[in-house]
Amino acid sequence: MKITDLKCAVIGKNPVVRITTDQGIDGYGEVEATKYYLKPYVLFYRDYIVGEDPTDVEAVMLKIRRLGAFKPWGSAVSAIEIALWDIAGKAAGLPVYKLLGGKVRNKVRVYNGGVRFPMNGHAPGDYAEAMGKMKEAKEGFTIIKQAIGFHSQMLNAVPGFSYGEVRPRAGHHNPSRGLLTEKGLNHIVACVQAMKEVLGDEVGLALDCGPGMVVPDAIRLARAVEKLNLMWLEDMITGDYIPYVSADLYRDVTNSTSTPIHTGEQIYLRQNFQELIEKRAVRIIGPDPEDVGGIAELKWIAEYADMHGVLIAPHGVFDGLIGLAAQVQVGAAMPDNFIAFEYPIGSPQWWYDLIEGLPDPIVKNGFIDVWDKPGLGVSFNRDAAKKYLQDEDSGFFD
Ligand SMILES: [Mg+2]
Repeated sequence: MKITDLKCAVIGKNPVVRITTDQGIDGYGEVEATKYYLKPYVLFYRDYIVGEDPTDVEAVMLKIRRLGAFKPWGSAVSAIEIALWDIAGKAAGLPVYKLLGGKVRNKVRVYNGGVRFPMNGHAPGDYAEAMGKMKEAKEGFTIIKQAIGFHSQMLNAVPGFSYGEVRPRAGHHNPSRGLLTEKGLNHIVACVQAMKEVLGDEVGLALDCGPGMVVPDAIRLARAVEKLNLMWLEDMITGDYIPYVSADLYRDVTNSTSTPIHTGEQIYLRQNFQELIEKRAVRIIGPDPEDVGGIAELKWIAEYADMHGVLIAPHGVFDGLIGLAAQVQVGAAMPDNFIAFEYPIGSPQWWYDLIEGLPDPIVKNGFIDVWDKPGLGVSFNRDAAKKYLQDEDSGFFD
């Protein structure tokens, strides 16, 4: 089998990758909805892979893997990797999880980072109210993640929140950082307490915190909430769109507290997780399969983390519905250090009319049942999808 073409169409905001072959089998991958601008970077790799055998996934990846980088620049390579596995699975007549080692669970736990309800403000009562609605959501999530501190609007809503310069959010990027005031830290802790009062010990609470916190604040926050038994504190120091890791700083925080510390959504490739894992600098890592280099890369990192006592909870809120399918496939094959992956939301809502093969409902009691169709096990309703293709992408399904 040979690859005949690599195509990319921006559908809604998600760049979608389609790889075609000389045997009529095609494969799909997807880039996060926040990266609608990446189509030219996907197509850059076309000449590297046309003519290769897509079922020798690793051989193809060796040609392009070193040409990626930290978020957002590893996304194109990651989406191509996922599309290759989709083809390899279809060619073998097997679900992708079989090619990743086979499933060790029949249902995969997800956590809620994307099902949201409008908030009236950023006081403790507002967070508690929102948490109550998320707890009652039809998906029955067993873990909910909430943005606080530098990852939220809290620093704008609370005067005197930090000693640093409060800079306006630029798109998905929060450029504020620096030392918190006592008032700012107290506000965070009060909001966390209010959320935990709603969730009790029935639903786990994770908090996305930065990046931008300084080490002493990270230690103070982690210690202040120790008795609340949080799932994790995410990206306090580095994280989202930061092109480095700072493992030693994370180790200082991790070694100072019983609260699990988490990072990793921006990191590209196993080599860039090596220091975090070997130094046990965090208790939980959160690679995103659409940033880290794909699903086999994610599985390898999970196994290596497991040997070092590090847990894994993959990032994924913007991965789209093809990304959701990829997460289920690799999630089924993850080692026992797997906690849950972040449930991707189809946005706009019409995405749910475009993709066939997902369970209905998708999430039951906080889990997704693993399906057995070949490849990723999802496909496009082409007639429905064509309506949303831009003119320049009109030949995407040809
Ligand atoms: Mg995050």
